[in-house]
Amino acid sequence: MKKSTIIAVILGLACAMGASVGSAHNTNIKAYWAASGMFGPFNIRGLIPALPEDRARDITIPVPMWIIDHPKGIVVFDTGNNVALNTGGCAAHWGEGSCAFLKPSQKRSDVIDMQLKKLGYSVNDVVAVVTSHSHLDHIGNIEMFPNALHIVQKNELYQAWWPEPFQRASGAHIMADYDNARDFNYLTLDGDFDIFGDGSIVVLNAPGHTLGNQSLKLKFRNGDTFIIAQDALWMRENLEGYPAGLNFSVKTYFESAQRLKSMADLEGGTLFFGHDEQQWKEKGNRWYK
Ligand SMILES: [Zn+2]
Repeated sequence: MKKSTIIAVILGLACAMGASVGSAHNTNIKAYWAASGMFGPFNIRGLIPALPEDRARDITIPVPMWIIDHPKGIVVFDTGNNVALNTGGCAAHWGEGSCAFLKPSQKRSDVIDMQLKKLGYSVNDVVAVVTSHSHLDHIGNIEMFPNALHIVQKNELYQAWWPEPFQRASGAHIMADYDNARDFNYLTLDGDFDIFGDGSIVVLNAPGHTLGNQSLKLKFRNGDTFIIAQDALWMRENLEGYPAGLNFSVKTYFESAQRLKSMADLEGGTLFFGHDEQQWKEKGNRWYK
């Protein structure tokens, strides 16, 4: 190929990529960022031990959940902390260690069923529940959705039922959150998945934090792109190269983080962290269309 031809091809590709940036999308979705209460305050280095000591500070972080309204039904991304924290007390469900460390402040009105009600929906309107991973603050209330399709990475189910000793010892897996959900309708994945086939809600395989961790990409009608990392990136500090303290694989974690960040950059989109204090203050508890 001649040099001029190569340049023309590269320019053509660049234009084609440019045309897709911010371009409009046919499906009209809207998304609400909710929290199943907060965790904290605690020292950030309790979550990110690699962070230098001079950056130590107390943080209070959201327990993130997303409610997405698609013309074909409601999709929920993560179901927060189990409602048992409100009905039976934290220690009885999680054990005293996790309650003392995480300091959950969930009110009954923060729980996913009440969050849906607040927005004018019911749990029966939810057609699909996407669970990012099987830790206690993300899978907590899947049993509230026996009629929905549950979308998870296949190997995350193995992670949930047989966590590595260090993950198990951390108290992050509560079997009672999902032991009655075994016979639900699961769509098990080994990779990405476009939920309604229209590009508006796409599951992204983002392993590392856990074996089968997954994130979500939203494409709005006005062309906005959201990359919702959940625990693929807890907070901004993880993007700076300081890994979360509870990872299945640090190497895979950073590969996923880089992929999500690049995707957001290339599409001119917004990257949402799972547990970032500042971003929640700026962007939480509201609708996006
Ligand atoms: Zn989390």
